[in-house]
Amino acid sequence: MPSVCVVAKKCGGCRYTGVPYPEQLEIKQKNEEELLGRFGKVERIIGMRYPCFYRNKVTAAFGKDKKGNIICGTYSEGTHYIVQVDKCLIEDEKCQEIIRTVKKLLKGFKMEPFNEDTGKGLLRHVLVRRGIKTGEIMVVLVLGTHVFPSGNNFVKELLKIHPEISTVVVNINEKRTSMVLGEREKISYGKGYITDELCGCRFRISPSSFYQINPIQTEILYNKAVEFAGLSGKESVIDAYCGIGTIGMVAAKHAKNVIGVELNGNAVRDARMNAKENKIENIEFFKGDAGDFMVKMAAEKAKADVVFMDPPRAGSTEEFLTAVKTLSPKRLVYVSCNPVTLSRDLEFITKNGYEVKKIQPVDMFPFTDHCETVVLLTRKEKTGFDKKPFGKSSERKKTDYRKKKDMQRA
Ligand code: SAH
Repeated sequence: MPSVCVVAKKCGGCRYTGVPYPEQLEIKQKNEEELLGRFGKVERIIGMRYPCFYRNKVTAAFGKDKKGNIICGTYSEGTHYIVQVDKCLIEDEKCQEIIRTVKKLLKGFKMEPFNEDTGKGLLRHVLVRRGIKTGEIMVVLVLGTHVFPSGNNFVKELLKIHPEISTVVVNINEKRTSMVLGEREKISYGKGYITDELCGCRFRISPSSFYQINPIQTEILYNKAVEFAGLSGKESVIDAYCGIGTIGMVAAKHAKNVIGVELNGNAVRDARMNAKENKIENIEFFKGDAGDFMVKMAAEKAKADVVFMDPPRAGSTEEFLTAVKTLSPKRLVYVSCNPVTLSRDLEFITKNGYEVKKIQPVDMFPFTDHCETVVLLTRKEKTGFDKKPFGKSSERKKTDYRKKKDMQRA
């Protein structure tokens, strides 16, 4: 297994290059235990069998070095200086190969990389995504201007070298921003999206939609999340921060109905198409802020037996978690990519009627210091003192009868 990277220090993306994989897992396990151990037992982290070249999405920034040579790679941590990356240990090898081809082609087409300071030039970033199961590949050329001279010929040449590419999208990002993608895009070739498979479902993925970057570990993660949900087929389920609807769709097969909520409009469009494509009829998607949506659901006294939540690194909000408390689902399955914000949110939710039952770390990002965690929380059952003092007489009788029977058995 390759474990030496010549640009590791400058790039800063991988904290653990040179550290043997079992040791990396040990470090992550300890870190999870430090941050989450006070809520309950942290299960053994699930690692990868082969922890290299797992990233199915590769983004390269384009620019020039001091000598004027074209370079492409990642921004040095916390800066806008581009570190030339010739070979990365964690990125999909086919995606890297396509990026190298784009770099080679630039000269022949007299295409200049975009210069952030002067606003001149053309190519800002190239994003390549590969569906590992389907083999479909999407290339997004991000330009700093809407004029793309010889664009058609450039794309034709790229496709001649890489006929395995399924779609090419040109994205325009004219803003002074650290965001990779701009808002405008034009399909140059193919459908404008790719499809991949996870847990037996097919998913359509648009350029700006979130899709987990490590598909092997994602299947493990989703299966754990659905297992934790303990679905019997009768439950009403919410999939909050649902992206293109992945977790909700895997869960829908085992639930009565599912509602997904997501902020990104393109992802919601993908999610709806995905449900149709997979012939899943008991799922519905809404575009909006997950916190606002949950508050509305709580105000309407909607029924929710299980809530999945998978917020971005910043974690969730008190507004969201308070609405969860009001909705009072039996089970809450929290999928997190940041144990620090997870710990903060668990602190809040465990003080508000829920207890942690399971904590399962999954290593989605070998060589980096990131770690994914799935947590099962269940609603604390009210004690006898919290219950209404007088139930219906028939209920009381039933309880009394059971008590007697239990006593007899004892
Ligand atoms: N569960 C999905 C996506 C998880 S990533 C999956 O496994 O693929 C987190 C998602 O939350 C992203 O799709 C992001 O667009 C969305 N998001 C971020 N802030 C949000 C908010 N305030 N309300 C709803 N969705 C949000």
